Amino acid sequence: MISARGSVVPPLASPRFFSPPLSVAIVGAGPAGIHAAGALAELAPGTKTDVFERLPTPYGLVRYGLAPGHPESEKFVHSLHATLAASDFRLFCNVEIGKDLSVEDLRSSYDAVIIATGAPRDALLDIPGVELPGSFGSAEFVAWYNDHPDSSLQWPLNAASVAVIGGGNVALDVTRMLLAEAKSLQATDVSAEVREGMAGSRVREVHIFVRRGPADARFSPNELRALGELPGVDVVVDAADVAPDRHIERMAKQSVHTRLAVETLRTFADPSADRTSHRRVHLHFYRQPTEILGSGKVEALRVERTVPDGYGHVTAADTCTDYPVHAVYRAIGFLGTPLAGVPFDHGRGTVTHRGGAVVDESGSPVAGLFVTGWMKRGAAGLIGAARPDARQTVETMLYQLDSVGERRADRSGIARLLGAGNVVSVDWDGWLRIDAAERDLGVKYGRDRVKIKDREVLVGIGTNLPVHPQ
Ligand SMILES: Cc1cc2nc3c(=O)[nH]c(=O)nc-3n(C[C@H](O)[C@H](O)[C@H](O)COP(=O)(O)OP(=O)(O)OC[C@H]3O[C@@H](n4cnc5c(N)ncnc54)[C@H](O)[C@@H]3O)c2cc1C
Repeated sequence: MISARGSVVPPLASPRFFSPPLSVAIVGAGPAGIHAAGALAELAPGTKTDVFERLPTPYGLVRYGLAPGHPESEKFVHSLHATLAASDFRLFCNVEIGKDLSVEDLRSSYDAVIIATGAPRDALLDIPGVELPGSFGSAEFVAWYNDHPDSSLQWPLNAASVAVIGGGNVALDVTRMLLAEAKSLQATDVSAEVREGMAGSRVREVHIFVRRGPADARFSPNELRALGELPGVDVVVDAADVAPDRHIERMAKQSVHTRLAVETLRTFADPSADRTSHRRVHLHFYRQPTEILGSGKVEALRVERTVPDGYGHVTAADTCTDYPVHAVYRAIGFLGTPLAGVPFDHGRGTVTHRGGAVVDESGSPVAGLFVTGWMKRGAAGLIGAARPDARQTVETMLYQLDSVGERRADRSGIARLLGAGNVVSVDWDGWLRIDAAERDLGVKYGRDRVKIKDREVLVGIGTNLPVHPQ
C-alpha cells in the first residue's frame, strides 16, 4: 500500500542496528545523495557509506546550478557539509559511475546502492530550427556562468534581443543572468572569465514565453520579485494576460504562492509604472513556440497563441507571431541520464521506483538498488525537498535489507578496481584542500571565494599532485 506521503513502508519509529554494519554506495554527491548519507547515519547508525561523484567536487547543483550570489548558497553548502561530516563516509569525487566503475561493480561490493545522479539534461523541445546555432539549452548556459568544469570557456552574449522559453524559476534565473551587469557579480564566487563575458554582453531585451497562464506558471514569488528588482531593467506584462478570471482567482485562493506571484505579475502590467530603462523583459503568457527561424543561425522565434479553457489547460489558437530574436534559450525542464544496469523511464527521464526501491519492467524490486532526488522525482522541487525524499528512500531500503538473511558484500575491492582503471579520486580531505584554495583565491580578490573551473587544477589540488597555478 502506498501512504499519503508516497511511501510504501511505514516511517521507522527507531533506528535499526545491523550486524555487521551495512555498507552502502551512493552515486552522486548533490543534495539528494548527501541527505541519503545523513538519513543512513540517523536511521542505521554505523553504516559504512561510500559516496561517488563524477565531478572533482561535491554539492551538485548547489555549486553548479544556483545563480551566482544566491543569498542562501553558503547556508546550503554549510548544511550539506555538516550532514556528510556527521556520517561514517568516504568520498570518491572524480569517479563517474557508468564509466570508471559500473553499477554492477557497486552492486557486488555493497549491501545497497542508492542512485542520486540528478537530472542534468535539458528536456527536448521538438520544434523545427531547434538545432540552429544560437539555440541553447539552459543547462549549458547555467553551467557556463557557474564555472562548471565541463562547460565552455566563453559564452556568446552578442544578441541584443533574446527569447527564453519556459514558465519556471530556471527561465527567470537565465533571464536575470542574461541581463546581469558585470559589477553585480563582483562579490560572487564566479571566475574573472565569467565576469568578463558578462561585461561584454549586448543583451538589451529578453522575451519570456510561457505556454499557460499566470496562475499555472511555476514562478516563485521571490524569484519574480528579484526579476523586478534588476537594476536598469523594466519588466513588462500585457494586462490582458493577468486580468482576473475565474481560474486565476480560484488558484490564487488555494495557494498563497500563486496569489503572491499573480500580485507581482500585475504590478508588471501596471500602465502607470515608470518604464524608462534601456533594457527590458517582456513576460508573455499563453504563448507557445512552434519554430525557430533562420538560415544558418537564429533570426526569429515563431510563437503561437494559446487559449485557456478555464481549468488550467490551454489549446492552440492558430494565431502566430514572429519575434525577431537572435538567440533562444530553452528552460522547459531537465531529464536524468540513463545508467547501464538501472531501469529507466525514458519519457519522464527518471529511474522507475516504488517508494525509492528501483523496480524492473514487471514492477518487481531490483534487489539492493535504490534511487533518490531529481533522478527519482523528476526535475522539480527545491533543495529542501531532498531531505524528506532521501529519508523515504532509506526507510524503504532498511525494510528491504531487514529481511535479507546473510549479507556477503565486501567493499574492500573498490580501491583496487579504481587503481586498476588508473582512476584518480578526490577524497574528503582533498575537497577540503580545494575549498581552502578557493577561499584563499577569494581573499586575494576581496571576496569570500573564487571558484576554480579547470578540472585538472581541481584534481591536482584535491589529490596533492603537482598543478599549474591559475
Ligand atoms: C538552474 C537551477 C537553479 C536552481 N536554483 C535553486 C534555488 O535557488 N533554490 C533551490 O532550493 N533549488 C534550486 N534548484 C533546484 C536544486 O538544485 C535541486 O532541487 C537539487 O540540486 C536536486 O538535487 P539532486 O541531488 O537530485 O541533483 P544534483 O544537485 O544535480 O546532484 C546530482 C549529482 O550527481 C552527480 N552525478 C551525475 N551522474 C553521475 C555519475 N554517473 N556518477 C557519479 N556522479 C554522478 C552530479 O555530478 C551531481 O553532483 C535549482 C536548479 C537548477 C537547475
